[in-house]
Formats: sequence, C-alpha cells, structure tokens
Amino acid sequence: MRTYNTRKRILVTGGAGFLGSHLCERLLAEGNDVLCADNFFTGTKDNIAHLLPDPHFELMRHDVTFPLFVEVDEIYNLACPASPIHYQHDPVQTTKTSVHGAINMLGLAKRVKAKILQASTSEVYGDPKVHPQTEDYWGNVNPIGTRSCYDEGKRCAETLFFDYHRQYKVKIKVARIFNTYGPRMHPNDGRVVSNFILQALRGDPITVYGEGSQTRSFCYVDDLIDGLVRLMNSPDDFTGPVNLGNPQEFTILELARKVIDLTDSKSEIVKKPLPSDDPLQRKPNISLAKSKLGWEPGIKLDLGLIKAIDYFVGASRGSS
Ligand code: NAD
Ligand code: UDP
Repeated sequence: MRTYNTRKRILVTGGAGFLGSHLCERLLAEGNDVLCADNFFTGTKDNIAHLLPDPHFELMRHDVTFPLFVEVDEIYNLACPASPIHYQHDPVQTTKTSVHGAINMLGLAKRVKAKILQASTSEVYGDPKVHPQTEDYWGNVNPIGTRSCYDEGKRCAETLFFDYHRQYKVKIKVARIFNTYGPRMHPNDGRVVSNFILQALRGDPITVYGEGSQTRSFCYVDDLIDGLVRLMNSPDDFTGPVNLGNPQEFTILELARKVIDLTDSKSEIVKKPLPSDDPLQRKPNISLAKSKLGWEPGIKLDLGLIKAIDYFVGASRGSS
C-alpha cells in the first residue's frame, strides 16, 4: 500500500492547540507526514503557521464530532478544550467532543487499522482521595458539577478506548496528562500559569483563588510531548492508562511567589473565591511511565517558567 511513501502518516486532532502544535512540530522533525485536524475553537492558525510551508504538513478544518475519512497509520486524539473557562463555555459541546470525538476517531482507527492515543487527563481522578494519584485509583468525580462535562467526558472516552480495544482489537494508548505549561498556552484561558505570568508582567494583582494552599504539579510542554511520543512508540501490549506529569508539587501560593520573583514584578497577591469543585491537591505517581516508557520530566519549574515568561514577553511585543 505504501510503496511511494516510507514516512508514517500521523493524524493529530486538536493539532492547532497548545499541546497539539508542539506535537505536530516534534512529529515533523522526526520525518513523519503530519495531518492536523482542528475546528479552531481554542486553537489558532498562529500556533502552526510556521509549519504550513512544510510539504509534509497538512492542515484541515474539521470538527471531530463529525466522522473523518483519511488514511493514516497513527492518531493522536487531542481535540478538546482543556481549560475550565473554555470547556465550561459550551459544556454540551465539550462532552460531545470527548465522547462523539472518541467514537469517530476510534472508528477511523478501526477501519484503517491505525494505532490511536487518547489525551486523557488527571481530571479523571476528580478531587482525589488518594495522593499521589496512581493509575489504579478510580477517582472521586462529581457527575453533575460544572467540571463534569470535561471530567466525565474524558472518563467516557477512556471507556470507549478500552471497549474498542477489547471488542475490535484496536491498538490503543491512553495518557493521563497532568497540568502542563509553556509557550503557546492560550493567554486568556484562565489557567493558573498563564494568568499569573500575564498579571505579573502587567503589574496587575496576582489572583490566588481560595487560600492558595491547593496544590498542582506542573510539567513543561517539551517533557510532556516526549512522554506522548514514547507512549505511542511503546510495545502494543502496553495500553496505559499511564500518568504523564511532573511529580514536583507546589501550592498555588508558592507558584504565585515564584512568578513574581522571576518577572521581578511589583504585583501584589490578592485572594479570590475558590471555584466550585476545584481539586485540593494533585500530584502524579509516575512509576509506571518510568518503568514502561523510561520517561520522567527533566525541566525544573523555574527553568520552564523562564521559557514561558519569555514567550509571553515576546507575544506581547508582537501584538503591540
Ligand atoms: P487547547 O485548548 O490549546 O487545544 C485543544 C485543541 O482542540 C484546540 O486547537 C481546539 O481548537 C481543538 N478542538 C476543540 N474541540 C474540537 C473539536 N470538536 N474538533 C476539532 N478540534 C477541536 O488545549 P491543550 O492544553 O493543548 O490540550 C490538548 C489535549 O490535552 C486536550 O484533549 C486536553 O484535554 C488534554 N490535556 C491537557 C492538559 C494541559 O495541562 N494542557 C492537561 C490534561 C489533559
Ligand atoms: N488558580 C488561581 N488563580 C488563577 C487561576 C487559577 O489560584 O488566576 C488556581 C485554581 O483555582 C486551581 C489551580 O490554580 O486551584 C490550577 O488551575 P488551572 O485552571 O490552571 O488548572 P486545573 O484546576 O484544571 O488544575
């Protein structure tokens, strides 16, 4: 079938988003043919504009809640808004994107016998009662809250992945991604790292929700992309789910102070109400990723924040 083409043909859904654009870049650099499918709900052409001149890169406007007929060898299914502000904007569409999107992409994988990777999330653990979270923990998720469209949508997508695997022998990989940050994060997506950096650069108050004692573990984007590619290339009998994230845990208040220091900002910290269903703590146990993928993050928070700050400084210059 592939007489004329020795390159792998890889579909990245959500390829114009934050993580997707870095993934497309990495896959192209490795000599693959990359097809990026995105409906530009939260992604933008700016994220992948530098890839457009590459003849091995193809951009397609497509909504994954509709079927897609393409011939590919691998699929990375990243399409889904990831920040609470974005996924709560149209919660019904968020659930549809996760669930119908998974059905459509799994159907495609089944038809063309492609390997398919799902970008799942630490949100499947909800507000966890087990800390740090291991993959065998079933989670503590509110099924009817404001985060449920995302959390339950992603949980149902995982179910679909494993049922397509058991029922149709589709080759699947499921990554549970923990908070990731870096260049090309959406500036207005309300996520904590982009919010704090932009507030610090503008000299605006740094908005800490609640007392700031809740914790998160932040993974730099290059580390995360490396984990996704390693997972896709791992032996077929390793399906995951596997946690991908940085196990170094910080309180939100510690993050705020770090950002103020690194930007040399005069911003003050102000406390705001904690959003509903905001998990108290989150930290991945990455033993499985270490043993099965030989993967662990290498970029420390300070260095990653400096890179992200540089990006936002550059982006604000570009727009002024
Ligand atoms: P993002 O919002 O920057 O990217 C998502 C992309 O999907 C965007 O380009 C958007 O336009 C596209 N999209 C949304 N709905 C679509 C649809 N119906 N059809 C086609 N395209 C659609 O978010 P991100 O941070 O890059 O996240 C990518 C994936 O990783 C998501 O599935 C997210 O759930 C998962 N994830 C991200 C994080 C993180 O910290 N960034 C953590 C856990 C999981
Ligand atoms: N947060 C905050 N100030 C902000 C934005 C977020 O204190 O301006 C907090 C938020 O309440 C949460 C944490 O930072 O406890 C991480 O939020 P984010 O939306 O980045 O990710 P998630 O809650 O999905 O982990």
